[in-house]
Amino acid sequence: MISRNVIPKLKAIVGPKNLLTTPEERWGYAYDATDREAMPEAVVFPGSAAEVAAIVRLANAHRFPVVPRGAGTGKSGGSVPIEGGVVIVLTRLNRILEISRPDLVAVVEPGVILTRLKQAVETQGLYYPPDPASADFCTIGGNVAECAGGAVAVQYGVTRDYVLGLEVVLPTGELISAGTRTMKGVVGYDLTRLFLGSEGTLGVITRITVRLVAKPAARQTLAAGFATLAAAAEAVSLILTSGLAPTALEFMDHVTLSCVKELLPFELPEGTLALLLMAVDGHPRDVEDRATRMARFCREQGANPVLRAKTPEEAEGLWRARKVISPALLKVKPHKVSEDVAVPLGAIPALIAGLQEISRRRGLIIPSYGHAGDGNIHVNVLYDRQVPGEREMANLAVEDIFTIVRKLNGTLSGEHGIGLTKAPYLGMELSEAAMALQRRIKQAFDPHNIMNPGKIFPGPAQRR
Ligand SMILES: Cc1cc2nc3c(=O)[nH]c(=O)nc-3n(C[C@H](O)[C@H](O)[C@H](O)COP(=O)(O)OP(=O)(O)OC[C@H]3O[C@@H](n4cnc5c(N)ncnc54)[C@H](O)[C@@H]3O)c2cc1C
Repeated sequence: MISRNVIPKLKAIVGPKNLLTTPEERWGYAYDATDREAMPEAVVFPGSAAEVAAIVRLANAHRFPVVPRGAGTGKSGGSVPIEGGVVIVLTRLNRILEISRPDLVAVVEPGVILTRLKQAVETQGLYYPPDPASADFCTIGGNVAECAGGAVAVQYGVTRDYVLGLEVVLPTGELISAGTRTMKGVVGYDLTRLFLGSEGTLGVITRITVRLVAKPAARQTLAAGFATLAAAAEAVSLILTSGLAPTALEFMDHVTLSCVKELLPFELPEGTLALLLMAVDGHPRDVEDRATRMARFCREQGANPVLRAKTPEEAEGLWRARKVISPALLKVKPHKVSEDVAVPLGAIPALIAGLQEISRRRGLIIPSYGHAGDGNIHVNVLYDRQVPGEREMANLAVEDIFTIVRKLNGTLSGEHGIGLTKAPYLGMELSEAAMALQRRIKQAFDPHNIMNPGKIFPGPAQRR
């Protein structure tokens, strides 16, 4: 519990307009895109890094938790204040401070919405590749804290590959700079990388320097329908080893397709039970050649139909359908546990077969879709809280999924992080010694455990 005299001090730091204290107001910051929730005791909207530092220093003095929050679109409960305390919302820090063409960098505050940054750099012929499906509403600060990925990670990599430098308020209240503005840099330990994917547990990011690349001159989008999911999964493995070098290679299974089919810019024939969505980027001639070979290759693997988007609007329609899958699945059942496991590329068909077996054995609908091109599959265990036992069965299915993923040498999370929801399973991937080392790193940064406590590491806070 925060003590009573903390509230006036918070008000003095951020001003009365930037502090929420009533239950109705605070409720809006109690949840993210998971099914977990916990009420914050206060919510603040700092307007500068200095204000963030003052809040964190106050938290240290009074020993209350602080939880950084961007747009609250996280899929592992990272911004849910499970141990109470104060939620620090970074959305007022939303300036694009600089876009430098000569240096190929942009400097931004953490509350910038990703699409705004992408559009701003594109007006200068530049490109910031990371593209989570939530780009229109998530913040770049949240992307750094989760090391967000997206569809074009197959060719371009993830957020980690673009962050050069950071300004961070440490859990002790000190403001530090990590990393560089240069493309290379090896001075001391790589603290920038340590903050990437640290899920708001090591500090509050207040400024980000990202690397930009030239905007690709052309892009083509293709879709290929398959009669079985197994055939689509097999085709993914073959495309990846064929030298066709896709920029994006996404898949949807039949449950997913049934939820978004009316958004597709064309009709799929009866019996299409899986869809691959592909993009190729680059020089127009090269793109034309690779797209033609990709279409032919898919037909040879039994795809029917294979369609190429003829206009930018058609391509946009296909990607829009892909982006709304996550909420659209709630048409099938009112609740879901979303996992984002990743397996080595050659293991995708085995994972798909395993998921189908778990779905049959547990009697649950478990649709899957996502970034097949890098082995990062979004697995959704659907359930209804009103149906007795279904939530518990979903938990068992999640354990089954993690078990098979680990057998296949995969990882529990490709891009959504561990947060609250996956913390109980951390030991399935990290050894005792590795976990103990990570706890010591956390302790070194945050001796009083005030920065987003109850996340990543297993403990009583995550039990449901
Ligand atoms: C429909 C939908 C589609 C999605 N698709 C993708 C996808 O394709 N790829 C992908 O990777 N993710 C995806 N996500 C997940 C989510 O959008 C990303 O994890 C995103 O990076 C979260 O950003 P946010 O601003 O919402 O962060 P929040 O949810 O507010 O916070 C996420 C974590 O970051 C921490 N944090 C936030 N800001 C800061 C800061 N300034 N300093 C320190 N810590 C901070 C929080 O404490 C929390 O632990 C999707 C989510 C939805 C709802």
